[in-house]
Amino acid sequence: MYATRYSKPKNIEEAISALQAAEDGKLLAGGMTLIPTLKQRLAAPDCLIDLCAVGLSGIAEEGDALVLGAMSCHAEVESSADVQKHLPALSLLAGGIGDRQVRNCGTIGGSIANNDPAACYPAAVLALAARITTSKRTLSADDYFTGMFETALEEEEIITKISFPKTHKASYAKFGNPASRYAMVGVFIAKTDVGGLRVAITGAGQDGVFRHSGLEAALADSFDVAAIDAVDIDDSELMSDIHASADYRAHLIKEMTKLALQAIG
Ligand SMILES: Cc1cc2nc3c(=O)[nH]c(=O)nc-3n(C[C@H](O)[C@H](O)[C@H](O)COP(=O)(O)OP(=O)(O)OC[C@H]3O[C@@H](n4cnc5c(N)ncnc54)[C@H](O)[C@@H]3O)c2cc1C
Repeated sequence: MYATRYSKPKNIEEAISALQAAEDGKLLAGGMTLIPTLKQRLAAPDCLIDLCAVGLSGIAEEGDALVLGAMSCHAEVESSADVQKHLPALSLLAGGIGDRQVRNCGTIGGSIANNDPAACYPAAVLALAARITTSKRTLSADDYFTGMFETALEEEEIITKISFPKTHKASYAKFGNPASRYAMVGVFIAKTDVGGLRVAITGAGQDGVFRHSGLEAALADSFDVAAIDAVDIDDSELMSDIHASADYRAHLIKEMTKLALQAIG
């Protein structure tokens, strides 16, 4: 047993103060990753700072963008009429995450803060050239993801919202792990005014989510399933683990790209 304090700040300033006052404080969002980490003694923070009352929920339209509060849980994103209308691919992605409990507790902010290499949201954030606003600044998706479980977030920096461009030209296809539903390979294709044509891949890269330049170039030439067969997927930097070899993941990348493309139509 070790002692841990629980803090429930009412606004972002109080949350930052609580982080600064703690020796090793941890922000708590949905707890879907953090609580198992604590149970396994992989982390032992002296203070848990719960973000549930800080006011980071809510989904709103802001001009050409959809803005999701960091504490929006996956079930809210899935069922949001605004997301279904303006960014249906994101609603479908959220509805395919984990199980009902995970979708009702896990949050988009927690997901991209954690940046699990098999998580779904990082692919959407990168492909849609989303912008991540924190308590300190706004970051582009390109600058935000820096490696497996690594992001540009600094100490005492809290994600407050994520801003996505509205588009119907987007689609996500995932080959999920049959037990957890995490992506063994997930491919998000998007065409937006801000980011152009992008193909972002999760579940496969040794450094976490990444864009595939070969697939992007092929689809820029011809936005057609036939264009994908000619693309070489180099497996030398793909993950190999008990779930799938790098070679198999390379195969899945092509297949998931085809499925995602067919869904865009
Ligand atoms: C059984 C299971 C299946 C899952 N399947 C999938 C899946 O198919 N696809 C998928 O994408 N994900 C999946 N997940 C992950 C899940 O969806 C959550 O997104 C993830 O666990 C983290 O979100 P959370 O809100 O629970 O964060 P927490 O566990 O509370 O926090 C995770 C980390 O993020 C930090 N953090 C949280 N919020 C913020 C913030 N606003 N600013 C800065 N740092 C913050 C915390 O301090 C902590 O370090 C699965 C999880 C489980 C347990």
